[in-house]
Amino acid sequence: MDARPSEARYQMRNTTAVAVKPPSPVEHPYHYEAYKICSSKDILDLFKLYEEDPNISKKLAGLIRKVIGEREPELLLWSGLRQQKKDIARNHLQNVEFTPAFIRHDIATLDQLVNLMATAEKEGSHVKAVGSFYAFGNVCETDGILVKTDLLSQCTQTDLSRLTEHAKADAEKNGIVYFEVLSGTTFADTIKALNKHNRALINLGGFTGQSIAGATSTSTHGSGINIPPLSSMIVSVHLIAPGGHQYRIEPSNGITNPTAFKSANTNVTLIQDSEVFSASVVSIGSLGISYSFTIITIPLYSLFETREELTWETVKPTMMTEIVEKHRNAEIWVNPYTGEALVTKRDIATKEEIDKYGNTISIEARKDLGSFLEHPLFIDTALKSQYHQTPVVDTYDNIYPIGLANDFPAISIEILYSIKDNNHILATESAIKLLQQLRDTKKLSLTSFFSLRFVAASDQYLSMSYGETRCAIEFPILYADGHYFPEVYKPLIEDALRFGGRVHLGQWQPPSFNSHYLSKVYPDGGLTAFRNQITKFDPKGTMTNTLLRQLGLVPNSSLEPVARGLAV
Ligand SMILES: Cc1cc2nc3c(=O)[nH]c(=O)nc-3n(C[C@H](O)[C@H](O)[C@H](O)COP(=O)(O)OP(=O)(O)OC[C@H]3O[C@@H](n4cnc5c(N)ncnc54)[C@H](O)[C@@H]3O)c2cc1C
Repeated sequence: MDARPSEARYQMRNTTAVAVKPPSPVEHPYHYEAYKICSSKDILDLFKLYEEDPNISKKLAGLIRKVIGEREPELLLWSGLRQQKKDIARNHLQNVEFTPAFIRHDIATLDQLVNLMATAEKEGSHVKAVGSFYAFGNVCETDGILVKTDLLSQCTQTDLSRLTEHAKADAEKNGIVYFEVLSGTTFADTIKALNKHNRALINLGGFTGQSIAGATSTSTHGSGINIPPLSSMIVSVHLIAPGGHQYRIEPSNGITNPTAFKSANTNVTLIQDSEVFSASVVSIGSLGISYSFTIITIPLYSLFETREELTWETVKPTMMTEIVEKHRNAEIWVNPYTGEALVTKRDIATKEEIDKYGNTISIEARKDLGSFLEHPLFIDTALKSQYHQTPVVDTYDNIYPIGLANDFPAISIEILYSIKDNNHILATESAIKLLQQLRDTKKLSLTSFFSLRFVAASDQYLSMSYGETRCAIEFPILYADGHYFPEVYKPLIEDALRFGGRVHLGQWQPPSFNSHYLSKVYPDGGLTAFRNQITKFDPKGTMTNTLLRQLGLVPNSSLEPVARGLAV
């Protein structure tokens, strides 16, 4: 049952629900035009049809998926000239393409993975793992063996006899249950398995198609000023390093009982050392290939979500104190061209809220029609389409994913800013100004609203929120070809550097993303500690690829910047 669409809702939107004062037709003719179109009955009728008629929404969703399906990448086998068969690897969006020596599609067991890593190092071949292949940058690229991990998919409860008494007591006290998840398992499959046990992940991003290793390796996150990136759910990593050496890596006060572990595992070395652990999860695959993780889970929960239509100018002054700091999750979506904003707040639902609102949402209802259309007026329409006057309540896995919008062929960059001294607000204002200039002078635009999310500090050296809470600003663009989006993103990233912005490791990165860039925005201590671990686990550079070389994240590397300049 979807309690959201109702006659009243649309009437409200036409009258009082639009919190924005109509702009003056004389002073702001463009904004006035936007306001008129976005509030018109025609457009609202269209949305009403779309939302209320399951046949129409189903047909549209099917059509979109069909179009996207035709672009479905997988790892395409390309037969070139006879005897020169090559595997071409393309990411999901198909904006990244490379030719590995070959692709291993068959890795389904620990033994296979260990043998592969042993042979690769012996033969001097590079290796790279690929999860769901969604990252928009060159993080998966290799000239050696590309290892598909989708067959490494399983989520089972952890054997408690392996754990310390302290870990068991701590788990009981905090309602935690540990699970073992193989690295190629997608979040969607992990959630499904956990649901059967009435367990849940602490947080989610807006999408669940990524593999757990691929997502945590790039510090994927959701929103929540007190919630670190998704990598924080991992408390133990089973890593297969080059040479086939196996390690179980945990923080210094790790959950595994060393004595019990040693008697059960002769081939795996247990390392309980926070310095090593801090390099082992967010690593963009530079230490080896993760086979599995131990994760913490909490009791299955529902979320209570409200949405409010405001403007950036009205949100800005009290955004931190009244929205972000008061709620478990807060997200602010902004149209940079009109200033319209949609504020989402989420908290764990109480029993009364669940009783009152029921399970009111479904992923299919997370419609985002129009959010990737080019005209700024449509961006406002897309924002409005996501508004709901009545709060919604549902389990976390139905609330967090943004739904259909994830199926659009869109690319994005995301930049994470320190929130100290309102740095992130200054950065947002600067981005808005720049985006407006790009539109006015070069006709270059985002094709969606941008979003602000908040991520608590992470101990992982490479995480974009390493060392401090950061605000993540994501800028999506409908992907048509490789030419348009860099024209928007390059100046944005150049501007972001003025505010110490760190670019998301799993989104698009500019050519200027190099060791020089890293040393500008990450503290030296963390980068050096990370490089030390690469030298230790991968002394021969088996995991090295073009990007890691560019970033100076290679064994025994100095801090020398690569030859490429900073200019984007
Ligand atoms: C539709 C969509 C929505 C998104 N939403 C969000 C969001 O809400 N929040 C957010 O922060 N990001 C988001 N992202 C970014 C996304 O989470 C990252 O790109 C993520 O890294 C993709 O995961 P993957 O499994 O596809 O990884 P891949 O692209 O396959 O790999 C990423 C990296 O992980 C490494 N890797 C993969 N498996 C292993 C392994 N077993 N061992 C060692 N290394 C490994 C790869 O070598 C590579 O370096 C989104 C992306 C898309 C396309």
